[in-house]
Amino acid sequence: MDAITFLYMLLQSLIHYLQSVGDVWDEETHWRMELRAKRLDRKRIQLEWEVEQLALRQRGEAWGDLLWFALQPWQVWAVVGVLVLLLGLYFFWRKRNHEAENSNEEDEEDHVLGNDLRWLLERIQWPVQDLQAGCEWAIHLMDNYTIYFGHILSNSFYPVLQHAIGVGSAFEGWSPREQDVVYRVLIPMTPPRGHSFHLELDSAGHRHVRNFRVRVQLECTCTSERQAETVLCFLHHPEEELRSNQDPSLLHTLCTDSYLDVHKTARWFYQLVRAVWPALPQSHSWHLKLLPSRRSCQFQVTDGTESFRIEVLFGVRRGDSDVFVSSQTREARTLSTTWPETYDVAEVKFFKYIAQQAPPDTLHLRCLQLFSRVQLGFGFSNYMVKTIIMHLLNTIPMSQWRRRYFLRRLGDINVNLRRCLEEKCLNHFVIGNRNLPQEISLPLDILSAEPPNLIHHLARDLASHSQAMSEYQDLQHQTLVSPF
Ligand SMILES: [Zn+2]
Repeated sequence: MDAITFLYMLLQSLIHYLQSVGDVWDEETHWRMELRAKRLDRKRIQLEWEVEQLALRQRGEAWGDLLWFALQPWQVWAVVGVLVLLLGLYFFWRKRNHEAENSNEEDEEDHVLGNDLRWLLERIQWPVQDLQAGCEWAIHLMDNYTIYFGHILSNSFYPVLQHAIGVGSAFEGWSPREQDVVYRVLIPMTPPRGHSFHLELDSAGHRHVRNFRVRVQLECTCTSERQAETVLCFLHHPEEELRSNQDPSLLHTLCTDSYLDVHKTARWFYQLVRAVWPALPQSHSWHLKLLPSRRSCQFQVTDGTESFRIEVLFGVRRGDSDVFVSSQTREARTLSTTWPETYDVAEVKFFKYIAQQAPPDTLHLRCLQLFSRVQLGFGFSNYMVKTIIMHLLNTIPMSQWRRRYFLRRLGDINVNLRRCLEEKCLNHFVIGNRNLPQEISLPLDILSAEPPNLIHHLARDLASHSQAMSEYQDLQHQTLVSPF
């Protein structure tokens, strides 16, 4: 305000000065004075304009002061709050946009994946036969057999044959063979009356194999109320009486030195299958062809258009667990009284458990099918691949085995295969595995055992290891897993 007053007073004094001197000057100098007056007048106008501008500016500053004074601190914070809110909304909107873009990218990825998958899945050679239908057919046939076996053997002292359990790849839902799928079943055997089975671990010289012998022991039946009338006690009746009135004991039929003999059991079962066949309803339209086998019973049933190949193994259950000793063996020279421990039943139960947990578009069996096919001829056993996949199935949630994760899971299998070879170690899936589903029952010694290394031979044989690594490299080049 002081500056305005000063300028106004200056302007007034200039006007007063011009008026007082005008009266005394002569005519000659009048035009000169007039010129000066005009110049002073322009100066006045400029000064007035400047005064006005200054006043306006100061009024503006006063409005700023007034506004700042009028806004209380809470209002300032409210304004800040609104700004923060707006900023937040902006970032939220940006994030939504970003997610939408990502979603589009995933859709595109799915689209690309879809094309890759179609191509890949077409290359997987799936068995010609409907595995599930084949399994049902095989079990139905074996159930019919079991009924007849029960009638025929009811008064004998041969092992009691229980209902067949489907095991192996077909019953797990895959097959390493496109044609001639083998439907493998295990028939549990229990001792006949007057006998008992005792499993004896016999792994001398085979640190990595758990072999058993089945010792057959005669039991006293003198006190058995129901059997006392019709069955003579093998232990306490005179031998002469037993020989003339009763069939021989199991020790005299299927045993060698008190141990159940695999070869004798297979021959006996072979005869039973052939003898019972004509009585079965299937015999009216199907043809039975028995195939040679020393440690199992293999046969083919055909009707001209369809054909089922069935392999029957015999086993004795360890307690009430899912582990058996069976006639099956992977080694060529095995004694006829040797019954290797088998985990087939536990494994098929594991695959059934997985199938129950799996969403409809789960492709874990396709993974198994693909890798089992490409392994053929490369020296890696199917069991090795299956073990790697079982370990992965037991650790990766089933939702992650759906169609859209197929390539990732194939990559996992490939990485694990390489790691196993590099580390020369692949743990057995069942033995010593404490993370199995509760549905699978294991004997205590299996549960507490140290998991055996399935590829222990690679650790001690460098030539075998380098051969395996070289085969793996070939596998990488020749199969479609190399891009992962
Ligand atoms: Zn007795």
